[in-house]
Amino acid sequence: MQEFPITRAPASKPKPDPKTLVFGKTFTDHMFLMNYETGKGWHDGRIVPYGPIPMEPCAMVLHYAQEVFEGLKAYRSPDGGVQLFRPMENALRLKSSCERLCIPAIDPQTVVDAITQLVRLEADWVPSEPGTSLYIRPFVFATDPSLGVHASHTYLFAIICSPVGAYYAEGINPVRIYVEDEDVRAVKGGTGFTKCGGNYAASIRASERAEEQGYAQVLWLDGVHRKYIEEVGSMNVMFQVDGTVITPTLTGSVLPGITRKSCLELLKSWGVPCEERLITAQELFDAAEAGKLEEAWGTGTAAVISPIGEMGWEGRHVVVNGGEIGALTHKLYDTITGIQWGTIPDPYGWTV
Ligand code: PMP
Repeated sequence: MQEFPITRAPASKPKPDPKTLVFGKTFTDHMFLMNYETGKGWHDGRIVPYGPIPMEPCAMVLHYAQEVFEGLKAYRSPDGGVQLFRPMENALRLKSSCERLCIPAIDPQTVVDAITQLVRLEADWVPSEPGTSLYIRPFVFATDPSLGVHASHTYLFAIICSPVGAYYAEGINPVRIYVEDEDVRAVKGGTGFTKCGGNYAASIRASERAEEQGYAQVLWLDGVHRKYIEEVGSMNVMFQVDGTVITPTLTGSVLPGITRKSCLELLKSWGVPCEERLITAQELFDAAEAGKLEEAWGTGTAAVISPIGEMGWEGRHVVVNGGEIGALTHKLYDTITGIQWGTIPDPYGWTV
């Protein structure tokens, strides 16, 4: 494993109470930084005290959003150890995001080594209360001091860590979602399959509208035909219809989620029929009205599995599984979280 030099923070900050943690507001003592310069490549990987990053007001990322990021968690296992869930998958997705945004890719093993060394140093920050974890945010951005629209010649790769409370502190409650038929999150040929900041900027308006109408999340349709289901909020989405699990295929506008991939691998190993294909909102609501939509859930690192209880679309309104969490949804949640927190064996070699 590559080891990077460490400059230690003069003192450790007080650890927050995991019960009052607000997502993404508290950060640990250290961060990882690495620079890129044309001709020099990625160099000078280092761990330093967490703190502001000086930047020119003309830094390219602030104007043209040449930026990508990742999100994963470190979990405290019952033996007191700390484990990561499939970090190489995040490193590979970061590489694919970088390539789309013309950012020089970082060797995936270097990304995993940097995450591992930083989390080892910050191990005391991984909370141990049920459902809590340490959220890890790697990100890469263009730093050229220039307003010309072209690929930057300099970049910074940073990793910061934030302790997070239990996502389901009040129990798992199925959410109400609504099909967004005005805004789109991403289009084929665009950047939907990457984790670039711009995708999220484009998604905020629809989320605000959904919230105003009492819905928790938006069900995104594709940007070309405006009929195929793509994702739910910032999660992938799965439906069990007539015994088969269906999920939108990765067309280029859908983020290839690591939780999605893990769910599909688990479902296949359990012998549950799965299909990755195009799914229209029409087909889904017709299935629901015919009593064939058995379960529906979102998948993502934050919530792991988020059951969907109700869906609205063009005046139609359907309730899924009586608004209750379904058996398969529950089994997926229990299995993935059990592996993540090390409370059940990991026969897949997913934890590091
Ligand atoms: N879609 C979007 C748009 C996301 O931001 C995320 C979270 N990374 C996901 C899906 C789920 O991906 P993962 O399972 O890798 O967290």
